[in-house]
Amino acid sequence: MPRTVLVTGGNRGIGLAIAEEFLGRGDRVAVTYRSEPPDGKFLAVRCDVSDPEQIDAAFAAVEAELGPVEILVSNAGITEDRPMLRMQEEQFSRVIDTNLTGGWRCARRALPKMLRGRWGRIVFVSSVAGLRGNQGQVNYAASKAGMVGMARSLAREVATSGITVNVVAPGLIETDMTAALSGTRKSTHLAEIPAGRAGRPEDVADTVAWLAGERAGYVTGAVVPVDGGLGMGH
Ligand code: NDP
Repeated sequence: MPRTVLVTGGNRGIGLAIAEEFLGRGDRVAVTYRSEPPDGKFLAVRCDVSDPEQIDAAFAAVEAELGPVEILVSNAGITEDRPMLRMQEEQFSRVIDTNLTGGWRCARRALPKMLRGRWGRIVFVSSVAGLRGNQGQVNYAASKAGMVGMARSLAREVATSGITVNVVAPGLIETDMTAALSGTRKSTHLAEIPAGRAGRPEDVADTVAWLAGERAGYVTGAVVPVDGGLGMGH
């Protein structure tokens, strides 16, 4: 049965691959973008996840066109890496506000209609950095670890209502975000990956689509790594 899917930050990178995966499976797909919309395959709505009003307007636009959001993929995220002593409070707060609070805002907006429909899937895109930490990413890792506690608490709240809440924790995935890493940082990370290579956005998309599927209805509060073994044991 086709479902209505909303992917935040679905105009590029991992979010775009996730949106394409759902489209390929026959779902009704909407994406949010902040800067540039993707080409016309999906309903694209402008939305900065740090602004509750834009989130409300984006959901209203999706509901009007495609119906209530049944699958929410909270993917929009940023990094502002630097060592702790060079990190200003705004840089900490901005990353938490986008990655963690942005996900909370979207889930909160989606939830009433999922509860009414007695079916829903929420998937938060976290990171291996949230599980094992990463130098220079105190803000980012805190935001991504926070998603785990948030998802597991919400999973407990809504588990009897046909709604699952899960987390994917990608490792090093080839996107604009990791293209910005220096050559040395990238090769240090690569050397640690048992699979010996970076992942592709499609690797993450496939796992997200599985978690959102009918057959994963008994999987909730899970943290699923998609990292070539990088985070094993965490
Ligand atoms: P990109 O930098 O390629 O894309 C980031 C996406 O988030 C863009 O769509 C961007 O929109 C959107 N975005 C950023 N800030 C906001 C905001 N305030 N409001 C709305 N949208 C926003 O990153 P990736 O595709 O690599 O990352 C996607 C997710 O996966 C992120 O949450 C990231 O933390 C996570 N992740 C990535 C890993 C990797 O190795 N690449 C590893 C682990 C996790 P716009 O284009 O309009 O700026």
